[in-house]
Amino acid sequence: MRRLPIFLVIDVSESMMGDNLRLMQEGMDQLTRSLRQDPYALEMAYLSVIAFAGQVKTLAPLTELISFYPPRLPLGAGSSIGKALNYTMDEIQRQVVCGSATQKGDFKPVVFLMSDGGSTDATEMAVAKWERQFKNKATLVSLGIGPYAQLSFLSAISEQVLRLEQCSEQDFKQFIAWISASVSSRSRSIGLSQEVDVGVDLEKPHHPMLTLVKTLQDAVGIDENYVILSGLCQTSKLPYLMKYEKLAAEYQSSYDEAQYQFTGVYAAQKDYFEWSDERQNFNTIHVGALSGGCGCPHCGAAYAFATCSCGQIFCVEGDGEVQCPGCEKYVYMGHSDGDYEVTRSRG
Ligand SMILES: [Zn+2]
Ligand SMILES: [Zn+2]
Repeated sequence: MRRLPIFLVIDVSESMMGDNLRLMQEGMDQLTRSLRQDPYALEMAYLSVIAFAGQVKTLAPLTELISFYPPRLPLGAGSSIGKALNYTMDEIQRQVVCGSATQKGDFKPVVFLMSDGGSTDATEMAVAKWERQFKNKATLVSLGIGPYAQLSFLSAISEQVLRLEQCSEQDFKQFIAWISASVSSRSRSIGLSQEVDVGVDLEKPHHPMLTLVKTLQDAVGIDENYVILSGLCQTSKLPYLMKYEKLAAEYQSSYDEAQYQFTGVYAAQKDYFEWSDERQNFNTIHVGALSGGCGCPHCGAAYAFATCSCGQIFCVEGDGEVQCPGCEKYVYMGHSDGDYEVTRSRG
């Protein structure tokens, strides 16, 4: 049985928090459902899901469609595309069966790499290795999600580098439908020809409003559009993420310092740390640049933005003495003038 291996390599960095992560989660269900209705795909397509943030792991090994269940997507700090590429090459080597004198191997695998940002680690070595050893063995399709994706550095090794410009529910569904149609048409053409090396027959997107097929131009000023801060719940010791988005130019005050408005909080799970980049982060922001806030999404404490001198952000109910869940020292909480720096997460 010759398989058509499909690897979904998905960015689960913090910038995906909220709608993008939910749409991606639902998108995997949609993809599985629609491929199961295609007899060619059902017969030969095998799906694997690899997720990456600061760390990379396999969430689902290559599995035939009929028994594939979309895994829950985690979230972590960092977006290590270099690490993700290296890991994917190892997985291809481990899981894809090569042809030999006695058996026909698997069909050429297709890798869909999806990210909404740029890489936070070095990528040159991984890109060079792919170009040398994998360019003829696997088809890489690089998909930028949203306006801040920066994936043009993958263009030398990708069959296509595309961008989904808008991340509305509707556009995202069409984006997933396009991936599904590409897998279907490839299954059909190799099903009919039985050739390993059929050319890439990615579907042409049918919807002109979906500006998916466009040479990906890197976004400008990516980091400055939002700020993500991570905190720890004092009660549950679970992490949470607060997102601040940059105010539009007409709402910016006359200071030099750009102003950010609170837009949402995400209750992360324990595995957040396992997925995060371990390198120390020196990226900070002045608290005075941030406005708005929220309560703790885990325990319901009134303020999620208490800070300790160790740098930890955590939740508190009000003024008084509390134990910092980061360094475990006791600190007195009172009002501050907002004139200090806090550590930004990697996004
Ligand atoms: Zn809490
Ligand atoms: Zn502390």
